[in-house]
Amino acid sequence: MAKVYLMTGTNRGEVEKLMQEAARMIGEQVGEILRMSKVWYTEPWGFKQGNIFLNQALEVRTELTPEQVLDEVQKIELELGRNRTEEAEIKRENGEHYASRTMDIDIILYEDMVVESDRLKIPHPLMQEREFVLGPMCELVADMVHPVYGVTLAGLREKLADKTEEAAGER
Ligand code: ADP
Ligand code: MG
Repeated sequence: MAKVYLMTGTNRGEVEKLMQEAARMIGEQVGEILRMSKVWYTEPWGFKQGNIFLNQALEVRTELTPEQVLDEVQKIELELGRNRTEEAEIKRENGEHYASRTMDIDIILYEDMVVESDRLKIPHPLMQEREFVLGPMCELVADMVHPVYGVTLAGLREKLADKTEEAAGER
């Protein structure tokens, strides 16, 4: 039995319903959901135009390996209508790296494991740069120490806030 932290996100379609459906399917296909953060609403960045983003962190007890968790969350993304071909087209059209999607599920942390394969990187490599990840995660496990940086998630979040403030000051 392991604890895995997942992050669901959507900005397209029936967003509230998609978040509920994702949680329900995670409960069925990954393992028992122990706790969930509230749903966070974030203005999109990296888009020229776009809808607001919904994000939620989930603490899940699972018997699956990290790779098996990835298999399951990718199945759920597909079942909830994520269309990678369509996303690639949107990215090409607007020249942006990010595209709208119906459901994105990322593995943020799996116990204190570090995974570095082509397919899977845990801890999630961008978690320390994203308030929409650290905010929800800190609701659940602010005191958890990041297995690579050796800093608590609350500490990472403070650092990110300082960095964001500095960048704003320089403008
Ligand atoms: P993103 O989440 O960065 O917006 P995608 O959801 O399209 O982009 O994911 C791209 C690839 O990232 C996936 O095919 C998956 O193999 C890989 N990946 C690597 N690490 C992780 C992780 N921790 N959680 C989810 N996907 C991951
Ligand atoms: Mg993803």
